Amino acid sequence: MAWFQKQEKGPAASVKGPARTEGLWAKCDSCSEIVYRQELEQNLMVCPRCGHHFPLPARARLAATLDPDSFEELDADLTPLDPLGFTDSKRYRDRLRTLRKGLNEPDAFVSGMGQLMGHPVSVGAFAFEFMGGSMGSVVGEKVTRIFERAHERQTAAVIFCASGGARMQEGILSLMQMAKTSAAIARFRERRRPFISVLCHPTTGGVAASFAWLGDVILAEPKALIGFAGPRVIEQSIRQKLPEGFQRSEFLVEHGMIDAIVSRKDLRERLAQLLDLLADPPGPPAA
Ligand SMILES: [Zn+2]
Repeated sequence: MAWFQKQEKGPAASVKGPARTEGLWAKCDSCSEIVYRQELEQNLMVCPRCGHHFPLPARARLAATLDPDSFEELDADLTPLDPLGFTDSKRYRDRLRTLRKGLNEPDAFVSGMGQLMGHPVSVGAFAFEFMGGSMGSVVGEKVTRIFERAHERQTAAVIFCASGGARMQEGILSLMQMAKTSAAIARFRERRRPFISVLCHPTTGGVAASFAWLGDVILAEPKALIGFAGPRVIEQSIRQKLPEGFQRSEFLVEHGMIDAIVSRKDLRERLAQLLDLLADPPGPPAA
């Protein structure tokens, strides 16, 4: 028998995510430094040596951004079905069951109402660790409700995006969410309240091609991959080498696609500044 053995992977370990950050120590993907995990967590999962942004789970992000104890989760009872009876290497319904159990999340999006330095916000964040933050009918509905609630309560809307795109296991129903969420933003605009979109690593596919790019202000975390198709797919289709740093936040801010790159530690304050400027005073009543 070999002196080493592959460890059995539990359900949580089998999903994409910060697999290298399990245990007491974590290895930074950027500077290869070994970092004490507790120190990393206290630093909002940003490498204290080089500033590399590790993935931040949705609930931790909301807790770090919103005022303490102000978040009220809504729509937590919405859970995806399997309308197409989809099976790839595994049945979709089995995949959902395993993830729900392992991650204790109903789907890839957490949403509700909260306060951000005193501003009421209708807010949501993607749980990338749940099927790559893919947008199926439940995620689409939750995003739509963020704008509907912001419309009703006349608050700003803030969404933290981290998604691989539409959820292929729900086929056309996933693609329909792109139109649905975009239409919800169009209605919300009547209220003349801001929608701030924060693009985290990675924001791609159907999410990038719909509401994520429709923010009144679009912020991004450093070095986040943001785009519709990935660079490898584009290179293969156009048969050209893409420029250095293509589709990263720094490239996109230089080309006017996003408004600013904000480090995670400054995000709460920057969002509050924007809300100070944009969310008050109340706009004219809707006709
Ligand atoms: Zn580092």
